[in-house]
Amino acid sequence: MSDLFQCSVREISEKLKKKEISSVELTQKSLEQIHKTEPQAEAFLTVCEEQALAQAKKADEVLAAGTAQSILTGIPMAVKDNICTKGIRTTCASRMLEHFIPPYDAAVMEKLNGANAVMVGKVNLDEFAMGSSTENSYFKKTKNPHDLTRVPGGSSGGSAASVGFHEVFYSLGSDTGGSIRQPAAYCGVVGLKPTYGLVSRYGLVAFASSLDQIGPLANNVEDCAFVLETIAGKDPRDATSVDSRKADFSSGLGKGVKGLRIGIPKEYFGSSLNPEIKEKVLNAVKALEKEGAEIVDISLKELDYALPAYYIISSAEASSNLARYDGVKYGYRAQEFDSLIDMYRKSRTEGFGDEVKRRIMLGTYVLSSGYYDAYYKKAQQVRTLIQQSFVSRFEQVDAIITPTVPNEAFRIGEKTDNPTQMYLEDIYTVSINIAGLPAMSVPCGKTSSNMPVGMQIIGKHFDEKTILNVGYTYEQIRGTF
Ligand code: GLN
Repeated sequence: MSDLFQCSVREISEKLKKKEISSVELTQKSLEQIHKTEPQAEAFLTVCEEQALAQAKKADEVLAAGTAQSILTGIPMAVKDNICTKGIRTTCASRMLEHFIPPYDAAVMEKLNGANAVMVGKVNLDEFAMGSSTENSYFKKTKNPHDLTRVPGGSSGGSAASVGFHEVFYSLGSDTGGSIRQPAAYCGVVGLKPTYGLVSRYGLVAFASSLDQIGPLANNVEDCAFVLETIAGKDPRDATSVDSRKADFSSGLGKGVKGLRIGIPKEYFGSSLNPEIKEKVLNAVKALEKEGAEIVDISLKELDYALPAYYIISSAEASSNLARYDGVKYGYRAQEFDSLIDMYRKSRTEGFGDEVKRRIMLGTYVLSSGYYDAYYKKAQQVRTLIQQSFVSRFEQVDAIITPTVPNEAFRIGEKTDNPTQMYLEDIYTVSINIAGLPAMSVPCGKTSSNMPVGMQIIGKHFDEKTILNVGYTYEQIRGTF
């Protein structure tokens, strides 16, 4: 790998501005790295060589004219394949959308194109973003950059791996219950899920609309801040997006954590947590305490209910959102059928994988008239309790730190026969989506098997600045490992 790919966005942008390298050269290097690494990594579903080089050429013109508006201009990146890209196949890693070419760009793509960013390709995920290992992709199994026999996490496994394998400088993922933070933790990169509403979901293929958010994955905290300020903002096409004209996340990152109150919820450090991960996360907390943060023991006792509530709400919404794939309007249609109903049935049977079917069935069940009150309504009540619990804890503290995941990345195939085991990987991340809060996973060491550990920094609604600052401060004192 070329040393160039160890550079931060800030450093590489300097090189581009000083003409030490052109965007076309940089993009060629990224494409070379992809060709070299992909046979093992399998992070990409589509590599857009021609478009990327054309974008790079345009970026070089903008840079030469001195009109570059963004620090991201000319820098190669990758996008999760559930984010619509005009004229470029967007599959959601599903047979259902294997040949789907969107006629429009997602809002985040419009913003990145406006910044003259260079998209080198679309990256792998669990089918329709349902999963925690990227093994649910119809197309391929992405590998973990630290151990090729292990999963990269999911569902944004391709987004995390493409950064971890240094194929690109940053990527976009989506997070419904942990899908940015968990793969970031497994692959040793930084991943940020923004507050619900900060980034437009227009053009993100819907999984669970009340939980989905797009966010960045990158090598360091500042890079994530640069991407976030580029993609944030109100969009009339997503009624849940909010005005964030003050979206400046990168300035003031060095201001430190003196006097900042950081809450440590005891429920997140219980017996189901791998002791090595516990040690690494608590060491990071100690390091922040040395920098002047005040550490406060808190309790978030609704943790036990978060996972069942999440899987009920997200599956209910998924069953409704995925009803549109009927063999008529979008995507795959079965070749042979006897009637209209038979065509619907066969198209969905053949077009969707097992996990997606499981969620659709679960979601349809919890929404059915006899069970609605017992499951869906109850889960919504639990959602309110979880939200209230976080809001009241945030009267005591400015940020909360937990592990991102209870375990290190597991081996490919280890959990495929046991969906409940797989769901348990999301135990620390789902409540953040339920409450709509921002949270970021930052690498904080490695286990004895040399696998990365991530700590999760959770903030108040729209207070990305504080969590970025905590992560940045930690990065400066962390050293390398
Ligand atoms: N692993 C979780 C799930 O399968 C989260 C997925 C996500 O955030 N997209 O639902």
